[in-house]
Amino acid sequence: MIRPRLMIPGPIEFTDEVMAAMGQPTKSHVDPDFVAVFGQALRDLRKVFLAGDDYQPFILAGSGTLAMDSAIANLVEEGDGVLVVDTGYFSERMADICRRYGGRVDLLSAAPGDTITPEQVAERLNSRNYELVTVTHVDTSTGVLVDVEGVAKVAKEAGTLVVVDGVCATAGEEMRQAEWGVDVYLTASQKAIGTPPGLALLVVSPEALAKWRGRRTAVGSYYGDWGPWLPIMEAYEGLRAAYFATPAVNLVEALAVSLKQILDEGMEQVFARHRRISDAVKAGISALGLEQVPTDMRHAAHTLTCPRYPPGVDASFLKEVRKAGAILAGGLHPKIKTEYFRIGHMGAVNANDALAAVAAVEAGLRAVGYAVEPGVGLAAAQAVLTAA
Ligand SMILES: *Cc1c(COP(=O)(O)O)cnc(C)c1O
Repeated sequence: MIRPRLMIPGPIEFTDEVMAAMGQPTKSHVDPDFVAVFGQALRDLRKVFLAGDDYQPFILAGSGTLAMDSAIANLVEEGDGVLVVDTGYFSERMADICRRYGGRVDLLSAAPGDTITPEQVAERLNSRNYELVTVTHVDTSTGVLVDVEGVAKVAKEAGTLVVVDGVCATAGEEMRQAEWGVDVYLTASQKAIGTPPGLALLVVSPEALAKWRGRRTAVGSYYGDWGPWLPIMEAYEGLRAAYFATPAVNLVEALAVSLKQILDEGMEQVFARHRRISDAVKAGISALGLEQVPTDMRHAAHTLTCPRYPPGVDASFLKEVRKAGAILAGGLHPKIKTEYFRIGHMGAVNANDALAAVAAVEAGLRAVGYAVEPGVGLAAAQAVLTAA
């Protein structure tokens, strides 16, 4: 049997070169060859995030939630005002983390499928004092994209730091950390960055580092504290070995390969490819007669698609989709969990993946008795892919 394509919103399909790097004999974490690879990965991370030379990347062993935890542990102190731009499940997780570190959290919440505009954020920032705004670039539970550029702009005007959860966006959605003025962009290896699960990645602005340096109190997380990690990252980038806690050696080797593949393609090309693949999948889904969770396609993510089940179809249809060649994900947002499913299309995704996903959805629908004319979804997707 041909292995079905893994098309959930992370983990995703990884390239053969990335998997080969994972499978190498594990080196010492202080081996000069590994130190060079780690240093290169740090430099390349800055480029993928389109961050400035004075921004500090961190590569930590852990998942995306650790990247969120580390950003907040370092930037939020008891009593700090935090405005959480809430577009779904992962925004609420961010709010929980902020509360855990003593933040006075206000949520600016969208209904599932809606986004929050920079104007709404500006209004809240003008109403009281906030030290920090958090944004989920793409909330994986709704497929909603937030205008991070616009939010970062109004946050800067209000003198507020901005932390962006880019876990389902970074290296897929357009993002320009330095130009947009995002203080912390964070992600995890297993999403569009294209490396198996296990790395938490953060890039931090000089302003955020200054806020951290000026803390009145110790960071409440031992492992996530930037204090012991900063000299380690500086050492690796300076091609010197250093130790605080053992890095995930093989994952870092794989990450270095993946970052190089992304940069070889070019960030503008990567953004454009994600848009095209997303447009094709969404066109195919619409042609099959399925609605989507985002209430307006202008704020729909390009890294995943969240179709609503048509009448009479539920999550059991995903088993049929899998038989037809694609592993998709069920719903995640608690309010609408049983009403929709999710197709991830990020990282090294190509036109054939988009077609395979649409074809598998089509086959799955037919298998559960939902009548669709063979090929209508594919024709719509193909029309997008072949358009000039
Ligand atoms: C996947 C995801 C996370 C959590 O990442 P883990 O690696 O599962 O901890 C956080 N935020 C967003 C937007 C995500 O998509």
